[in-house]
Amino acid sequence: MIAPPPIPIREHEPMERHSSWRAGGAARYYAEPASPAEAQALAAWARLHRLPLAWVGRGTNLLVRDAGYPGLIASYRAQDWQIAEQGDSALLSVEAGAPMAGLARRLAAMGWAGLAWAEGLPGTVGGAVFGNAGCYGGDTAQVLVCAEILIDDTIESWPLERLAYDYRTSALKRADRVPGAIPPLVLAATFRLTRGDPTALMAAMGRTAAERKRKTPAGSSCGSVFKNPPGESAGQLIERAGLKGRQVGDAVISPIHANYIVNTGAASAADILALVAIARDEVRRQFGIVLELEVCVL
Ligand SMILES: Cc1cc2nc3c(=O)[nH]c(=O)nc-3n(C[C@H](O)[C@H](O)[C@H](O)COP(=O)(O)OP(=O)(O)OC[C@H]3O[C@@H](n4cnc5c(N)ncnc54)[C@H](O)[C@@H]3O)c2cc1C
Repeated sequence: MIAPPPIPIREHEPMERHSSWRAGGAARYYAEPASPAEAQALAAWARLHRLPLAWVGRGTNLLVRDAGYPGLIASYRAQDWQIAEQGDSALLSVEAGAPMAGLARRLAAMGWAGLAWAEGLPGTVGGAVFGNAGCYGGDTAQVLVCAEILIDDTIESWPLERLAYDYRTSALKRADRVPGAIPPLVLAATFRLTRGDPTALMAAMGRTAAERKRKTPAGSSCGSVFKNPPGESAGQLIERAGLKGRQVGDAVISPIHANYIVNTGAASAADILALVAIARDEVRRQFGIVLELEVCVL
């Protein structure tokens, strides 16, 4: 028999509710811890019952296979933040559940520069730290000072170097999922900010928002599916392979941006993954280039 969990959990939770693709199977257990103590207690509970555990943010880069996830999926929700000013610069400490885009806007309105590139970036601070999210000339690695990581029941402060960032990846993302082991959780991050003019910052972010709106296909997606191979654009390779508009079930390779797969209705994870396989196979066959997933599949 399974011992009661330390915080409320849901059983057989459809993960399509928690993925911006609006697709995917169910989590056997699902919870939303809102503090380090709750996350630690949940990890202990999963360990006790030998359940696999996956920490997630807001599911904007995530797909759960249709067969479902046999363990616990926990979406970390703590989102407090504070600024320590040091003259014309500051250190921002922010919990991992905070939304990147909302945070960037609030900081800009207060006259703090550093995260303006994250205008319109979906997902949380934790997801950005995990995957080195970036866009419009900036990325997480450029402004991160350190991150608080829950690992093996202790909280460690990892300096930037230890995260070993590269394009859309980190030491956390590269680490293999070890069966039975609890993966590290990003609890919080510290970013370096500099003073800026709020009007100029907000105006620059308004321009980014307009460009994002123009380039982003409408509908349910998880952003770019593949990383750009060195010196190449994944979207252009898929387009040159003649795959724009290719459809499997309700999933379609966007006719607007070929590195986006859009769920136009009731696509399954299998529909999306079939398109992933088609894009990968065709790009390898036609150009000899192997596309690597940016999206995380559970
Ligand atoms: C329309 C659209 C546009 C996008 N544009 C961009 C873009 O311009 N640039 C870009 O980089 N990305 C983009 N993305 C992808 C997405 O916004 C980022 O990858 C984002 O950082 C994911 O954050 P999340 O909280 O949703 O993470 P999730 O999708 O929930 O999780 C993604 C991965 O991060 C891990 N993770 C999440 N939180 C934690 C945590 N606290 N501790 C440990 N691991 C964690 C999960 O285990 C998972 O492997 C876009 C997505 C969409 C839907």
